[in-house]
Amino acid sequence: MSRVLVIGCGGVANVAIRKCCSESSVFSELMIASRTKEKCDVLAEELRKTSKTKIETAKVDADSKEELVKLISAYKPDLVMNIALPYQDLTIMDACLECKVNYMDTANYEPEDTDDPEWRKIYEKRCKEEGFSAYFDYSWQWAYKKKFEDAGLIALLGSGFDPGVTQAYVAYAKKHEFDTIDTIDILDCNGGDHGYKFATNFNPEVNLREVSAPGSYWEDGHWIEIPAMSIKREYDFDQVGMKDMYLLHHEEIESIAKNLPEVKRIRFFMTFGQSYLDHMRCLEDVGMLSTTPIMFEGREIVPIKFLKALLPDPASLGPRTHGKTNIGCIFTGKKDGKDKTYYIYNVCDHQECYREVKSQAISYTTGVPAMCGALMLLTGKWNTPGVHTIEELDPDPFIEALDKYGLPKSESHNPVLVK
Ligand code: NDP
Repeated sequence: MSRVLVIGCGGVANVAIRKCCSESSVFSELMIASRTKEKCDVLAEELRKTSKTKIETAKVDADSKEELVKLISAYKPDLVMNIALPYQDLTIMDACLECKVNYMDTANYEPEDTDDPEWRKIYEKRCKEEGFSAYFDYSWQWAYKKKFEDAGLIALLGSGFDPGVTQAYVAYAKKHEFDTIDTIDILDCNGGDHGYKFATNFNPEVNLREVSAPGSYWEDGHWIEIPAMSIKREYDFDQVGMKDMYLLHHEEIESIAKNLPEVKRIRFFMTFGQSYLDHMRCLEDVGMLSTTPIMFEGREIVPIKFLKALLPDPASLGPRTHGKTNIGCIFTGKKDGKDKTYYIYNVCDHQECYREVKSQAISYTTGVPAMCGALMLLTGKWNTPGVHTIEELDPDPFIEALDKYGLPKSESHNPVLVK
């Protein structure tokens, strides 16, 4: 029995909420609060017909700590699930601390306004010191570690698929398969086709910022940064087939490198089709991915926000998307003094997801781990106060829950390695 406040009601939140409401014995009371309350109401009305969970809705601006504190102290949840945008992570963490409530999210903090001079000063210093230039990094949220510990609260960071399940796979490999891990390649393949020439599978702004940034990987204790999309490999994915994939910077590399310092190299690859890349390059070249406001016909617009308004809503891709995703990690390392390789991954079918929760697999593969992460916190399986990423926690109950709630693992002890 628990009371949960979910913030956000977009593509990922929709899946997570549906999954929570399918497990009413744990998620007995739930409030959906977001910027556009109507979306929360529509979902709540639908779910009330089938779920025993007592569902309420509210409007909240999660950029306002004041509004959040008011809502949290009135509803008194056991857990706040932040499934809004990474821009809101810090305000929601602050509100949780003030109200003494556990916190979780699906992506690490990045600022909405990357031109803010105060943020920029800290960012530029970090770029120089750390050697990677992504707008997001864990430092902002790790800075809350002591505050959460002292309050006896947990903040679970990045409980999606990647980050999220990929880190559980790392912890699982370390616990069950290896004495030492030498290399990790995280492979994120979306073999789905939605029939549009160009659309993003999750929030366009966050997605395009991520994939248009320089790539980077961790090797021998430091970052190596490369121009965007400049390292390309081919890989033959189980149940998907041969795909081109590109090396990207990704947030879990940072936390895995910190928590498993033995690992010599960590890389992240994501598959992209040529049409996606051509469109993205063109949009970037003409300035449509810029977050800097411009004046247009007497009013200020942010190019990437305008682009978001033109692109299909990721939540609408469900019925049109066919094919499968395949996301997982390939490891090399040693067990009992012998060299060993291991691949653990999940294959997820877009249409099966749509039939179950009216969503494509990208929202599904993020929303299910969000629900499973919440389940770990609410049932006390993960209960160490502080700010945690998933490779720090016991992977077994989480991976069992993923198996049960729709993201079963597959394994290979003789995988083809990525060159
Ligand atoms: P969407 O854009 O579909 O949904 C975001 C939701 O947050 C919307 O309901 C939006 O409201 C709401 N929201 C935005 N700003 C505010 C605010 N200031 N106050 C209150 N509510 C707000 O995004 P997704 O569902 O695709 O993504 C959700 C999160 O999941 C993101 O952080 C994303 O980075 C992360 N993600 C993580 C992945 C992983 O594997 N770890 C993979 C994919 C996504 P409105 O309806 O009014 O717009």
